[in-house]
Amino acid sequence: MISVDKVKPVPCPYEKRCGGCQLRHLSYTEQLRRKQGRCIALLGPFGHVQPILGMEEPARYRNKVHAAFGLDRKRKPVCGIYQPGSHAIVPVEDCLIEDAESDAVIRQIRDMLPRYRIQTFDERSGTGWLRHVLVRRGFATGQLMVVLVAVSPIFKLQKPFLKELLEKFPAITTVVLNINDRFGPVVLGTREKVLCGPGYIEDVLCGKRFRISPRSFYQINPVQTETLYGKAIELAGLSGTETVLDAYCGIGTIGICLADKARQVIGVELNRDAVKDAIGNARLNGLKNCWFTAGDAGESLEAMARDGFRPDVVIMDPPRSGSDERFLSCVLKAAPPKVIYVSCDPETLARDLKILTQGGYQVRHIQPVDMFPFTEHVESVVLMSRAGVECTV
Ligand code: SAH
Repeated sequence: MISVDKVKPVPCPYEKRCGGCQLRHLSYTEQLRRKQGRCIALLGPFGHVQPILGMEEPARYRNKVHAAFGLDRKRKPVCGIYQPGSHAIVPVEDCLIEDAESDAVIRQIRDMLPRYRIQTFDERSGTGWLRHVLVRRGFATGQLMVVLVAVSPIFKLQKPFLKELLEKFPAITTVVLNINDRFGPVVLGTREKVLCGPGYIEDVLCGKRFRISPRSFYQINPVQTETLYGKAIELAGLSGTETVLDAYCGIGTIGICLADKARQVIGVELNRDAVKDAIGNARLNGLKNCWFTAGDAGESLEAMARDGFRPDVVIMDPPRSGSDERFLSCVLKAAPPKVIYVSCDPETLARDLKILTQGGYQVRHIQPVDMFPFTEHVESVVLMSRAGVECTV
């Protein structure tokens, strides 16, 4: 693990063209100060904002690395990051916030292309084959998953290509071919072919084991995820008798990490692949008190409420766009004693907190967590309760 100077800004050779790290020009200490200020500005009106929990070593934290493949002006294969607002690729060899081994796998694939006569896809002419490579690493297990995103399932020299790649990187436990023949910004298509291994990797969080498929959401900074989940679970103050709703549950990570402390956990998630992973994950951890269902969070909660479902604790972790009227009004109707909101965007969080506080909830604790050092993004976890409900914080 390299050590990052927290007092001085860390130089990066791609800084000018990449745009991935909006706060690269600031020292880590200054970045944290800025994020704290943003949280206070947006969330301060709801209560005291605790000091942000930063990283001990804010480098190489990303367990998921994505590289776009294309041709440079001389029609030579390149891989890297899209320049902001365009489809020009900034060639990136090695990135300070990405897992080093995943970056090495991507470089290796790039260097192997000519020998295996693999053409990168050219958006202008619509010719070529390989569009993106995605590498995910389980930091706790060391397992590597490689996803090749291409326009067709035909991979002529697949066998020798995989043989060489796996020989160079024995940590690769699975390779998946994802087929995406559509134009547009979405990286992964809906069709997949497992080329070797089980088609997923495993990782460990808070002592629980998780199976991660190519298209499932999984937190990209596992070190800080444990801090974040630990805080959310602490704030839930569970005694073992509660029914917990894990809304926007992804592969079930939050619910499964707290399942030992609750009577039962119900998870709701839109992405069917993630729900399959969540069900597998509950089984993998020998948990018999977790159920997961696929669907829109608001729609599902409405249907469950009609059947008399009354959660004691709602944990919600929506995407950056935040929650919606339907889900929030259902929460207000179901009136669980505690709501824990995990958010990756303080702006949409503030918008949703306004609705929940106007509906009778009191904000009891606001904790920012730095999940994305060097970028402008900031995560927060907020505990709310109905008046008179005792909280442990
Ligand atoms: N709690 C999980 C996932 C959080 S990311 C974790 O910590 O890993 C947000 C999740 O919300 C994604 O998995 C996404 O697929 C899901 N999602 C997005 N819109 C949704 C909706 N309307 N209803 C339910 N889930 C949704």
